[in-house]
Amino acid sequence: MNGVIAMSGLLLETPLTPEQRGYVETIYSSSEALLTITKDILDFSKIESGKMELEQEPVDLRVCIEDALDILAPKAAEKKLDIAYQMDDGIPARVVGDVTRLRQILVNLLSNGIKFTETGEVVVQVKLLAAHKPKDDECHLHFSVCDTGIGIPVDRLGRLFKPFTQADVSTTRYYGGTGLGLAISRRLVELMHGKMWVESVPQKGSTFHFTLPMRVAREVSIQHLQGRQPQLADLRLLVVDDNSTNCRILTLQTSKWGMLPRSTQSAAQALEWIKSGEAFDLAILDMQMPGMDGLMLAGEI
Ligand code: ADP
Repeated sequence: MNGVIAMSGLLLETPLTPEQRGYVETIYSSSEALLTITKDILDFSKIESGKMELEQEPVDLRVCIEDALDILAPKAAEKKLDIAYQMDDGIPARVVGDVTRLRQILVNLLSNGIKFTETGEVVVQVKLLAAHKPKDDECHLHFSVCDTGIGIPVDRLGRLFKPFTQADVSTTRYYGGTGLGLAISRRLVELMHGKMWVESVPQKGSTFHFTLPMRVAREVSIQHLQGRQPQLADLRLLVVDDNSTNCRILTLQTSKWGMLPRSTQSAAQALEWIKSGEAFDLAILDMQMPGMDGLMLAGEI
């Protein structure tokens, strides 16, 4: 498969007639789809035959989630969906686990969320199931991936995690896919001693949940800013984002650093604040907003 993909990729960089280009692009995208299916089937049979071995290494949770979001950011941008994540206070920065498989689960859930959502957002949340005491070397994490998409009828919820099963027979025709992603994700979570389930309201959206008991990695991570930051404290921050979840996350996160955020979902409101003499030290502006986008707003400011 890699040979087919690499060679058709190279072929696309040579001079081709429009007709030939069309054919090669189809070979390229079909072989990528086939590679995904092959990998899923291999993963699935590996799990079923009890041969899936999980790594036990320190995992930086934020990096893992951000990597998963990075992989899917282009797809989300194409559909103009917002993607974001929020992590509770007190969650250990590093835990012990298999980063590749954890990322795979998140990528599966996120890519479904994006696939089955036309407008709105897909948000990852991580919470502590029970208060984590700093001295404990175990913590119980609750992940959720919530979308504002088409949702799943109640009578179909039960069978989603069965291999080769989709909510609706028309799904394959319209959205593609094999019906293996969720089966693999749930099995991986179970191998990690956790549980996975789903809640959904048709036409409103779905939330896929999973819990994982994880050991806390002892090394201290210095990559992420936690708690009050002297360089940032007391800076007045303007946050403008039409998505209320993003406003909330940015306000929460920057307040934890000691900043003084003021957020609005409307560019016009932000301009009014500034015109009326309110001063800010810096601003975080969303790029895609209805009416006035981030660049226009920055220009106005
Ligand atoms: P695939 O996406 O390859 O079909 P999955 O196992 O990942 O396989 O998903 C199985 C089915 O579950 C999907 O075909 C779809 O019908 C349903 N599904 C999964 N995630 C969502 C979601 N976020 N919103 C609506 N339906 C979903």
